[in-house]
Amino acid sequence: MPHDPPYLLDNLPVTFSVDDVMRHMRMSPQDADLRRGVERVVEIARAVARPRALYAVRYVEQREGDRLCIGGMWFESRVLRINLGEVQRVFPYVATCGRELEEAPLPADDFMAPYVMDAVKMAALGAAAGQLFDHLRARFGLGETTKLSPGRLDDWPLPAQAPLFELLGDVEGQLGVRLSDSFLMFPVKSVSGLLFPTEASFESCRLCPREACPNRHAEYDEAAVREYGLA
Ligand code: SF4
Repeated sequence: MPHDPPYLLDNLPVTFSVDDVMRHMRMSPQDADLRRGVERVVEIARAVARPRALYAVRYVEQREGDRLCIGGMWFESRVLRINLGEVQRVFPYVATCGRELEEAPLPADDFMAPYVMDAVKMAALGAAAGQLFDHLRARFGLGETTKLSPGRLDDWPLPAQAPLFELLGDVEGQLGVRLSDSFLMFPVKSVSGLLFPTEASFESCRLCPREACPNRHAEYDEAAVREYGLA
């Protein structure tokens, strides 16, 4: 079955600020010395940054137990199957801070500059992903949505990146994001997944036992792990 081509959002405004970057570094915005160093790197970054995103509209075509055929690609995940319910339309996506930030020249006299640039990339990625999700909700009139990403849970491991990228066509050519043989994305500051409408939002962190994760969004929930049949 022919599919609509993916949509590229390559004109995303560069919205990250010095405060955003300092927050990512867990620094006080009042620290004047550190702030000067961050401002210098943010200025360099803002001149070259091109955060962008790619998404497609695809449909669930078959369901077999915990296996789902979406846009001609098979995925196996109980968490995905349960959260999708009877939903038919899904939005595979990749968003990235962009290669330009990987290649930006840094001040040689500032040993903190690489760490600051790392936080800039996080802020740029957060801004790109946020704008992508806002765009999808506005364009397709979505209410509550859920996002699931390969590799977050053992239930949907990283190799699912391969069919996910297939749904988006030439991701490297269009977006500059390369998928390695071990299914990692480069630039590293990229995110991928499926977004779809749901009645109740879902956070993978509830089913993830990883301790001391700095990116945790929700408490680990043993009852939910049992409900999903993952215990
Ligand atoms: S707790 Fe951390 S590793 Fe686990 S799903 Fe959440 S963000 Fe990912």
